[in-house]
Amino acid sequence: AAEKKADIGVTGLAVMGANLARNFAHHGYTVALHNRSSAKTDALIEEHGSEGDFIRTRTMQDLVDSLERPRRVLIMVKAGAPVDSVIEQLTPLLDEGDIIIDGGNSYFQDTRRRERECAEKGLHFVGVGVSGGEEGALNGPSIMPGGSEESYQTLGPMLEDISAKADDGAPCCAWISTDGAGHFVKMVHNGIEYADMQVIGEAHELLRSVAGLEPAEQADVFDEWNTTELSSYLIEITAQVLRQVDPKTGKPFIDIVADAAGQKGTGRWTVQEALELGSPVTAIAESVFARALSSSEPAMRKQAQEVLPAGIGDTTEDVVKDPGFVDDVRKALYASKLVSYAQGLDMLTMAGREYGWNLDLATIASLWRNGCIIRAELLNVIMAAYEGDKAPLNLLFAPEFVTSIEDALPAWRRVVARAVERGIPAPVFSSALAYYDALRRPRLNAALTQGLRDYFGAHTYKRIDDPDSSFHVLWSGNR
Ligand code: NAP
Repeated sequence: AAEKKADIGVTGLAVMGANLARNFAHHGYTVALHNRSSAKTDALIEEHGSEGDFIRTRTMQDLVDSLERPRRVLIMVKAGAPVDSVIEQLTPLLDEGDIIIDGGNSYFQDTRRRERECAEKGLHFVGVGVSGGEEGALNGPSIMPGGSEESYQTLGPMLEDISAKADDGAPCCAWISTDGAGHFVKMVHNGIEYADMQVIGEAHELLRSVAGLEPAEQADVFDEWNTTELSSYLIEITAQVLRQVDPKTGKPFIDIVADAAGQKGTGRWTVQEALELGSPVTAIAESVFARALSSSEPAMRKQAQEVLPAGIGDTTEDVVKDPGFVDDVRKALYASKLVSYAQGLDMLTMAGREYGWNLDLATIASLWRNGCIIRAELLNVIMAAYEGDKAPLNLLFAPEFVTSIEDALPAWRRVVARAVERGIPAPVFSSALAYYDALRRPRLNAALTQGLRDYFGAHTYKRIDDPDSSFHVLWSGNR
């Protein structure tokens, strides 16, 4: 009898690839396994071989030969040059109509290029954003596939099977749009994740330095917040991190952690791309910069504490024991979070225009409802706001969010004012509020910018009473 062929092959069996391969097997698929060095393949078969139908392969040729046609090969290797190297090895072995899938954190411009190159060879190349870390890969991640719509017809159902499911049972996986759209949406998801974590961090800092709440007390506050409209995975695990005690010292765990945040690059990419598009994702940008500042030259931070004055009196005794303040912080957090989502989604709209993707924001919000790091109640509300034909021009214009922000505004302004008075950095709380105020302001100081540009560079300006023509003043002082 002919040997059973695999439904999908996975090459790259580090933690993400191994867990996705197991996830496919748990859903009844036969999975061919491959890794550059065979140790990982052997280890996976040894530890988890009994969980489903796996085919062990040693070479790329073995891998390709073991697959049902059209072949589906999922690449889960280190992002960057290794992906190109694997594609180069694979393409000569594949036939027209076969599908190469890249589930790593690839840069979307690389995905666009790879898709073009594969299409020229008659192959489908599908860049897939996968969020949810190791645990998600095993038990159900949020999946954001790009590539051709045609490839989704055979690949989509498999990806939907292994994806997380929202509360209403819908898979957290849907075709996003062509070429690099999936990786782009995953990138912006990560940018929003940076902002989500930063606003939680700002709330934590204010609860400590202004409200005087110890980490364990704050854990209770976050648990309570998790029953409100803030309900989300990140709020839930914040409570757990804050409640954790360091066994070595008996101190709160958070107090023994070095305050230098790391990053792997997707937040930075979001901001770089936002700069290219001219998309004002201020909350995401401040979050990326906050991490950069935290991990900048330690000697500079140390010297700053010695030489730079605060310009405020001694405030160590001045702790606000006002329960109203805690609730103010919750509202400031929520409003700032809404602004960061509004900015991220607006960036997706701008990118859709730039790259010819027809991005459906209701669908994208629906994929983030479960499986990924930013999963939250809020995403159900965001999804509903964009459903049907009532899509708002900006998320903040959806009636339910106008109401929430109106309710939060006095608290949000008080919290930002308090942070500024007390010298406590709250870059996203304050820049999100500045964005909000700028967006709704009838006149912006950009008029003066235009005047100055016309003066020193003859860059011309437009008149409010004649917006279609350009004008220039023959400035008398400018010679
Ligand atoms: P990784 O540490 O990024 O990569 C290790 C794997 O890549 C190993 O299988 C390694 O093979 C292979 N590899 C490296 N260079 C190679 C080359 N030149 N040719 C062939 N294979 C090569 O693994 P990971 O953490 O599982 O992540 C995989 C991808 O998923 C990455 O793009 C990552 O950013 C993304 N991702 C990760 C997470 C996460 O939570 N870790 C979450 C979402 C997405 P050898 O065993 O032979 O060295």
